[in-house]
This record gives sequence, structure tokens and C-alpha cells, in this order.
Amino acid sequence: MSFPRKLVVLGATGSIGESCLKVIRKHPDKLKLIGISAHSNADKLAAIAREFDVKKVHLCKSPDTQPVLPIQSEFMVGQEMLCQLAAWSEADIVLVAVVGAAGLAPTLAALEAGTDVVLANKESLVVGGELVMQTASRTGARILPADSEHNAVFQCIQGQSHSSVESIALTASGGPFRDRPLDQLQSVTPKEALCHPNWDMGPKITVDSATMANKGLELIEAKWLFNLPPEKLHVLIHPPSIVHALVRFNDGCVFSQMSPPSMTFAIQNALLFPERHPGVDESINFNDSLNLQFYPPDLSRYPCLKLAGDALHQGGLAPLVFNAANEIAVEAFLSNRIGFGLISSIIEKTLNLFDYQPAHSIEDLLSQDQIARKLAHREILSSA
Ligand code: NAD
Ligand code: MG
Repeated sequence: MSFPRKLVVLGATGSIGESCLKVIRKHPDKLKLIGISAHSNADKLAAIAREFDVKKVHLCKSPDTQPVLPIQSEFMVGQEMLCQLAAWSEADIVLVAVVGAAGLAPTLAALEAGTDVVLANKESLVVGGELVMQTASRTGARILPADSEHNAVFQCIQGQSHSSVESIALTASGGPFRDRPLDQLQSVTPKEALCHPNWDMGPKITVDSATMANKGLELIEAKWLFNLPPEKLHVLIHPPSIVHALVRFNDGCVFSQMSPPSMTFAIQNALLFPERHPGVDESINFNDSLNLQFYPPDLSRYPCLKLAGDALHQGGLAPLVFNAANEIAVEAFLSNRIGFGLISSIIEKTLNLFDYQPAHSIEDLLSQDQIARKLAHREILSSA
């Protein structure tokens, strides 16, 4: 694919969206922003549209006042228009940085249109991994991972045969509570959970990092992206968040990718692949000492990771149910309706109560997703 690459960014106002804009500012000759979308922050979206002179601007929720956009911009409103923007034939790349299962439909729309997707939204693979991968292989569109661990694996396996990959380990910081006594975990507050030691991210993924549901979602994401069975997928706690993944090949050699904890490294790699150019953030300084510590997670501290691992092994709709219940439970925790310790209980109960049916189309998946959400809501009400 030649340069400049025309880019549509879905979720442009979020944390990944902001990191992506830094990469575009650094490489204006290589990346041209032509379309953006956000949920409801019209002012922030309009400021981005003006800075980059964006042609199509989309908001899910109708704003109270008309945003001030560049004269030539087309303004689109409503959830269904998100897929139209994702399928816009002008785009060379669609970066999906929407949060949650809402990322599935636009990811599929972009792939269906044959457009390469740079994927930050892991939930779309967790909910509809089989459909997403089938759509990409049918249309020939590529999925380039922007999640830092998966981008690290992607970099490590370039030029290697799939059969030589013996196993991979995704690293995790362990979140803000990795050293807190277990009996104090029940009572942590949203404010404490939103303070991540290394990464600056949106609220949902920050809570997911504290529970390590995030790493569970990432195991499922890795299964689909790299076509690997559950037994080849591992997690290692690595507090400094410098090594993002490790790949062990069948000859025993282990490759890893390192960079400081900023998403600009992975996003730039995916957007400019296979080229390498100067990055946005400072890299590792070889005059400093590096203390790289790794250890396996204690699953009694991270029950959400254990539940996600079980859902990965179970397959079928279990990952979808895990994701739906997690989204609902995290929302309830952030609005002080349930305690931190109840997040995993709500997920576990929802997984146990769900009536598993086959689902293959996007319509089936989204309706099962709604059923799982309702069940999780009910469990929250009955736990009050
Ligand atoms: P965020 O909350 O900061 O931003 C989310 C973006 O999506 C915003 O622009 C918001 O307007 C938009 N959005 C929210 N709900 C929407 C909906 N229903 N439909 C359409 N758009 C909607 O989240 P984030 O931290 O940037 O994360 C985005 C995605 O990237 C998540 O799936 C997350 O797991 C993944 N991810 C994030 C990071 C990170 O460092 N933040 C790292 C790896 C992967
Ligand atoms: Mg990640």
C-alpha cells in the first residue's frame, strides 16, 4: 500500500484516538485523516475535524448544538451511520478504537468493504472472532493489531512459519492492586481502580486492567489473530510494561518486543507497516539499567482472568457472554452500584445461567449479546 494512506478513525476522541492523532501529526506526509467518529463529545470531535480538515465526521448521539466543522465536511449522525463511515471506499485503513462490543459492526463493515483494519477494539474479536476472521479472509482485507501485546507478537512472528510458534506469553502489569492484600480487594473504589501504574487509558479498559479481565479478553483476541489453540497462550505479570509479549519458537528461542508503555509505538507500527520511521515517544535508553521481572499470575487474585481462560477453553458463545457481563459489571462498578469484588461474581453467574445457542451471523451474535447483558443486569439487581 502506497503513501499517503487515507485513514478513518472510529473512536477518535478516546485514549487510543488521541495516541493515533499524535502519530498522524508526526507523519503528515504518510497519513491523511479523512474520517472520524465519536460517541457524543461533539466539541472534541469538531476540534479534531478542524485541525486535520477531515471530510466525514460522525457522531453516534445527536448533539444539542451543531458543531463547527470545516466547510467541506459532511456531518453524519446515528449509530447506523457508523458502519457507513467504516465501509467508505475512500479509506485505505480504518482504525477501530471504539470501546466495547459496539466495535463489532463497524469492524465487519470495513472488512466487508475490503479495507484493512487496524484493530484496537479487542471486544469485536471476543464477541465475533470467527465471523471477523472469516470476513477478512473472504475479502482479503488485513487485520493489523494495535493492542500493544498483539502488535508485539505480530512483530515477532514476521518471516517465521506459523507451525514454528510453540507458545506465546502476553505480558500484564498486574494493575494497581497487584500487591494489595487479598482481603482488602473487595473494598477498592472506582477512583483507586482508575489509577493505572503505567498506562493512561480509557475508563473501561483501566478497570479491566485492575481485574485483569483485559488480559483475559486479550487471550481470546490472540487466539483469533494468530490462530493458536488455548494451550499455546499464556500470561506473565511484568510490572514495568516494557516487554509486551514473548514468543517461543519450537527450537527454544524466545523473541520479544520492547518499548516504553505508550500506545503510539504499536499504533504507528500498525499504521505504517511494514515501514519503520522515527516514533512519537522516547524509546528505551541503553545508558539506563533495565529491570525486567516476569512471574505467572495468581488466579485467586484475578478471578476475572480465570473466568476468561475458562471461556476461552469452552469456546462458542462463552467469550461473548464473558464480555457482555464484564461490560455491564464494570459500568455498574464505575457508577458505584456494585463493589469491585462483585465484578467477577456477576460474570461467573451470567456465564453459568446463560442458555448457550449456536450463533453465527452478526444479528445472532448481537441478539445473544443483548440476552447476556440483560442476565448480567438482573444479577446486579439481585445482588443489591
Ligand atoms: P476510550 O473510552 O478512551 O475511548 C472510546 C472511544 O469510542 C471514544 O472516542 C468514544 O466516543 C467512542 N465510543 C464509545 N462508545 C461508543 C459507541 N457505542 N459507538 C461508537 N463509538 C463509541 O477507550 P480507549 O481506552 O481508547 O479504548 C478503545 C478500545 O481500544 C477498547 O476496545 C480498548 O480495549 C482498546 N485498547 C485500548 C488501549 C489503551 O491504551 N487505551 C490499549 C489497547 C487496546
Ligand atoms: Mg493490551
